[in-house]
Amino acid sequence: MELRERIRDVVDFPHEGIVFKDITPLIADPVAFRTAIDRLAEAISGEDVDRIVGIEARGFIFGSALACVMGKGFSIVRKPGKLPWRTDREEYSLEYGKSVLEIHEDAVQAGERVVIVDDLLATGGTAGAASRLVERRGGVVTSLAFVVELAFLGGREQLEGRRVHSLVEY
Ligand code: 5GP
Repeated sequence: MELRERIRDVVDFPHEGIVFKDITPLIADPVAFRTAIDRLAEAISGEDVDRIVGIEARGFIFGSALACVMGKGFSIVRKPGKLPWRTDREEYSLEYGKSVLEIHEDAVQAGERVVIVDDLLATGGTAGAASRLVERRGGVVTSLAFVVELAFLGGREQLEGRRVHSLVEY
């Protein structure tokens, strides 16, 4: 199964000059979706993992399915103002300006070994902020797993030696 064939390029989204990698054809195809989850599970199979953490919003799709097939708990990192209970927050830089991610204070227990999941790694800013949130809860980030990696944007380097898995690289 060639997952790359199920990823669609959308030109000028969300801004002019951006070619957005659209994963909706992949998750619409039951074989491709299942293949992606199986390959993510295979990628982290050598790691001792307690919990999967997914990043809003597409990280929820892949992260929750992965947690379910692996029999692990799932926790979420969200955009600001969405989580109902006590939160910790982390600000990070975007190309223009700043953004924030939040996590519930009890989403990760001290000492838990965590894999962070998102659909796509671009510059690494989002995944880096999620990693810091998990680590401030006392979690250990064993690796970060993505369906798509835009390698030309240098996200791996930005993640400073953390273990990174990706299924489709551009
Ligand atoms: P980064 O922080 O690594 O620059 O951006 C990654 C975040 O932005 C991820 O949460 C990802 O969902 C989103 N993102 C950025 N570009 C794309 C894209 O082309 N396609 C998809 N599906 N998500 C993107």
